[in-house]
Amino acid sequence: MAQKPLKIAVVPGDGIGVEVMPWGVQCLKEISELYNIPLYFEEFDFASVPFYKKHGDMLPRDWKTTLSQFDAIYFGAVGMPDELPDEVTLWGSLLKFRREFDQYINLRPCRLIAGVKSPLADRKPGDIDFWIVRENTEGEYSQIGGKMFEGTDREIVMQETVMTRFGVDRVLKYAFDLAQSRPRKKLTSATKSNGISTTMPWWDSRVREMATKYPDVNVDKYHIDILTAHFVQKPNIFDVVVGSNLFGDILSDLGPACTGTIGIAPSANINPEGKFPSLFEPVHGSAPDIAGKGIANPVGMIWAGQMLLHHFGHTSAAAALLQAMENVLGRSDPGVLTADMGGKGTTKILGEAIVGEIRGFR
Ligand code: ATP
Ligand code: MG
Repeated sequence: MAQKPLKIAVVPGDGIGVEVMPWGVQCLKEISELYNIPLYFEEFDFASVPFYKKHGDMLPRDWKTTLSQFDAIYFGAVGMPDELPDEVTLWGSLLKFRREFDQYINLRPCRLIAGVKSPLADRKPGDIDFWIVRENTEGEYSQIGGKMFEGTDREIVMQETVMTRFGVDRVLKYAFDLAQSRPRKKLTSATKSNGISTTMPWWDSRVREMATKYPDVNVDKYHIDILTAHFVQKPNIFDVVVGSNLFGDILSDLGPACTGTIGIAPSANINPEGKFPSLFEPVHGSAPDIAGKGIANPVGMIWAGQMLLHHFGHTSAAAALLQAMENVLGRSDPGVLTADMGGKGTTKILGEAIVGEIRGFR
């Protein structure tokens, strides 16, 4: 029986998003051909500054119906802060997707690749290889808060952290499942129960309860302050790290930073039940400073595509695509690596090298 194609909405967006996207799509096409995975792509021009200029909005009115028909959104980058404020571009597109499609998991790999220099001295590939799972919808980023006596010297400001059993448990379950699927089966929870007296001790108790369902997963926890220090000093102790919205946000920038340039790191916003599409994107933004120059690193975009395949269970194809990227970067050819990795290569040169590597697997 013919496999149903995986439907992918391609949304390149702005700036370098438009430049790196074709390489992401090309790599997905090449690898899926090799592994006989039917993919269906459709490209959209919304969620971009040019679309806004033409239509007065970041998205068409029926965007939710349109995108709901896809399994995944493959997203480049959005925003040109010199032309439109981030509140319009980001809030008007990416954050709407995240909220309306209940993408409550943010997932980022933290993996040191041969050929990419880590800012951490003496780190070798294999020393850093873990995942960060961030709660993506509640927690510290609630809209609940207030101000009193504004502008006076009695001024008071407050912002509430809101955690729900439903919201936290579903993220913990995802993180435990991920840990269980990995050889080391280790889960680290980010906490701060020695300083934050209500939410964090409760978070710890939810972790303890979930742990009873996963007797084979080895669980530990660290306070966020020492945890960030360990990211830098002993990243090899981690396998899967789970954190609240704020802690996860901090960790998911620090982790990839330890593995080299922002140009290679991918990120996924996931609705695990598949009720809504999940979104796969590079960590980097539209990079207006280098947009249009053809020198953006396409690896973050390609790696996001790799995460997409992995998420939908195409693990062999995903492993092969990761291998292709690692082979090319591992050769450390300065003519191929882009400037952010210390080379002289262009988006096209590096993109073609990875495509060539995949073709070499035939
Ligand atoms: P956002 O607010 O959308 O996250 P930003 O301005 O914070 O965007 P980026 O757009 O990612 O961050 O740019 C940060 C810096 O990293 C810039 O100097 C940019 O040129 C560089 N950069 C980002 N992505 C890449 C890439 N793929 N290749 C090379 N350099 C990149
Ligand atoms: Mg920014």
